[in-house]
Amino acid sequence: MTAALPTVAPSDNPLAQIDDLPAFDAVQPAHVGPAIRQLLEQADAALARVVAEEFPADWRALSAVLDVATERLGRAWGAVSHLNSVADSPELRAAFNEMLPLVTAFWTRLGADERLYRKYKAIAPDALNAEQRQALANALRGFVLGGAELQGAVKDRFAAIQAEHAEQAQKFSENTLDATDAYRLVVEPERLAGVPEDVIQTARQLASQSGANGCALTLKMPCYLPVMQFAHDRELRETLYRANVTRASDQAPAEQAAWDNTPVMQRLLALRQEEAELLGHPTYAHLSLVPKMAQSPEQVVGFLRDLAQKARPYAERDVNELRQYARDHLGLNDPQAWDWPYVSERLKEARYAFSEQEVKTYFPLPQVLQGLFHIVQTLFGIRMAEDRAPVWHPDVRFYRIERDRTTVGRFYLDVSARQGKRSGAWMDDVCTRWLRPDTQRVQTPVAHLVCNFADGVDGKPPLLTHDDVITLFHEFGHGLHHLLSQVDERDVSGINGVEWDAVELPSQFMENFCWEWDVLQRMTAHVDTGQPMPRGLYEKMLAAKNFQSGLQTLRQVEFALFDMQLHWNQAPRAVDGSVDVMALLNRVRAEVAVLMPPGYSRTPHTFGHIFSGGYSAGYYSYKWAEVLSADAYAAFEEAAAAHRGSTVDAVTGRAFLDQILSVGGSRPAMASFTAFRGREPALDALLRHQGMA
Ligand SMILES: [Zn+2]
Repeated sequence: MTAALPTVAPSDNPLAQIDDLPAFDAVQPAHVGPAIRQLLEQADAALARVVAEEFPADWRALSAVLDVATERLGRAWGAVSHLNSVADSPELRAAFNEMLPLVTAFWTRLGADERLYRKYKAIAPDALNAEQRQALANALRGFVLGGAELQGAVKDRFAAIQAEHAEQAQKFSENTLDATDAYRLVVEPERLAGVPEDVIQTARQLASQSGANGCALTLKMPCYLPVMQFAHDRELRETLYRANVTRASDQAPAEQAAWDNTPVMQRLLALRQEEAELLGHPTYAHLSLVPKMAQSPEQVVGFLRDLAQKARPYAERDVNELRQYARDHLGLNDPQAWDWPYVSERLKEARYAFSEQEVKTYFPLPQVLQGLFHIVQTLFGIRMAEDRAPVWHPDVRFYRIERDRTTVGRFYLDVSARQGKRSGAWMDDVCTRWLRPDTQRVQTPVAHLVCNFADGVDGKPPLLTHDDVITLFHEFGHGLHHLLSQVDERDVSGINGVEWDAVELPSQFMENFCWEWDVLQRMTAHVDTGQPMPRGLYEKMLAAKNFQSGLQTLRQVEFALFDMQLHWNQAPRAVDGSVDVMALLNRVRAEVAVLMPPGYSRTPHTFGHIFSGGYSAGYYSYKWAEVLSADAYAAFEEAAAAHRGSTVDAVTGRAFLDQILSVGGSRPAMASFTAFRGREPALDALLRHQGMA
């Protein structure tokens, strides 16, 4: 590929010279190519320099050349991809897509460079402080997992496995997508009785686009879910259910055989096992756990079984309630898989009816932010102050966080939904706290906090749903983890280097405050009257929170146990020697499930998390991190009970800051947790929070 001539001189290019905050208001698509090419060249030159024989195997010296160059590249590319996410335009997207393969190739090159691996290996650990030793250990582990220890034919085989695995994973998700997209069921509007009007309207439009009368139903979630929850027509639900659970499988209609994921799954499992063996691990489950907090497949399975056993009585109670309601109120004496979402929705309505619209009137954005800031200021002894910075949209706010009158972190807050902005919510880093080896000064961390909330109407402030509020608190938890770091070493500072199954601890932890009565009193103010939320409404929200948590827990455990046992080679073999995926799933269900789907159901065939999404032998992480966050929050509940006060407790908050937030990835998550809690994590708090105690 020949590089296009730079159209912008580097001196005029805001992306080429990011030393503090990016000039988000001045970046043009034409800046992207020249700046990124220049920074890539500099990073490659830095790599070449440090891997040379004469360059010393010295951590700080390496960092001063290589990390400084890669950080500049990372920051500039971070600014481009951020703009691509929040202020998309055809020109910017084209510039982004042109550079993406070059940037990706650089990181791959860096991670697979054997000369660099040897240089790191030659560093004497006794010359390092504890943070540097942890960062070095992580770096070496990354090289080993990337195949750096392999030689000759084995190394080639490893590379071939990676390539084929990527192809097969892609194939898995394409088959799922194609099978989902291909489905259309045109029905008369009468059959959709009970379904929300907007869903019917969309289905009507879809039908008319293809020249049909009636309503066209699809298997996409915004259509499938409401039909399963609300359509009174039982036969319709059964038809749609069957189509959904047989997608991309051997049970799908014959003309869709090309999308059957059965052989793809076999291939993926075989490649993973082979990769694990090449790297010296007995199974892929063992390999997957190397960089995680959980120590062994036995430990994960033990954890899941314990959780299943404790949730089971509640799940059985949930099912009994559903059966009774179905019989007494819906005339369903023998509910089937396609009835449960419907029955569940009806029972929920009957029992916990409250209006989401009413809830929203109590959560104007400014009041919520004030409430959130009050909590973190009290807990962590910090102060939020609005500040100024170049931004990409006038709605974006910028804040600094002060501790002892010193700025310790800064963040952009971009919460409004707009054209050209990717949906969802996320935290991203602009730069990390780092004692820079080039300037010998500590760099202040900066973060993006992005949400997509609806704008206010009629000159009123934006009104948030309770889910929106929880989302904001969640992302803010990630942000605090990044911004309140006290670590000097970049790669273990903030969320860097935190184990994958522990990184949701601070984010899920923050969510708990959204359910506290005293917090809501302070954080709510009716948009017209200014009154805080009434107790009656709060009680209803709280009651609905744990609706069927037993059933939901067992469903998550079923997926997680299946995933872990599958990658731990615990599945039976079919006569042809292949992994009998369905036999394993049925065994797991017999052990933990309280609801059995029909025999034709093939849920693994669309289980993208574990076959194409990076959650292989990692699906347990959802529950694992929830245990950590719930148990951490329980320390605040205990403090509140002891002082007859609030969970917004400054003493416990300071301990959480010192032992968990500020140490980031500089030590194992288990060490941080036990330092905070005085013991290892326990299940009780999660069960109690979800009404299972
Ligand atoms: Zn998260």
